Amino acid sequence: MKSNKQKRSEISARKAAKREKQEILAVQAAREARLEFRRLARSRGELPVDTAKLGPNNSYSIPAFVARGTYAPIEFACKQCGKVETWTAEQQKWWYEVAKGDVFTTAIMCRPCRRKERSRRDEARRTHLDGAARKLQARKG
Ligand SMILES: [Zn+2]
Repeated sequence: MKSNKQKRSEISARKAAKREKQEILAVQAAREARLEFRRLARSRGELPVDTAKLGPNNSYSIPAFVARGTYAPIEFACKQCGKVETWTAEQQKWWYEVAKGDVFTTAIMCRPCRRKERSRRDEARRTHLDGAARKLQARKG
């Protein structure tokens, strides 16, 4: 015959084992849910957001991609030529996490227009610097 003390310790041991099993199941379920979320996101062309890599920003509002946890492809019309292009999840990840672009900026120009705009800006800067150098030279001479 078991003592009450023995019975009680057996019951609490069984309860502890059950609790441990439930915790393991909960962890597994959470992991599967996370994997399923990633699988679905990937199938939609999305990529996970690594918030630790985002550039600093002092806004209190949260960008949609941070709230969602993924970068999703965005269709936009180029503001220069009107061509509709897709800003892919890969391009967004690069822009926000590698180039540390402002989290509230999005693509507004297609690739060719962006390239043209950059060379126009570089040319304008060169012209400005050349002009400033000539002015300086004239003042010295
Ligand atoms: Zn364009």
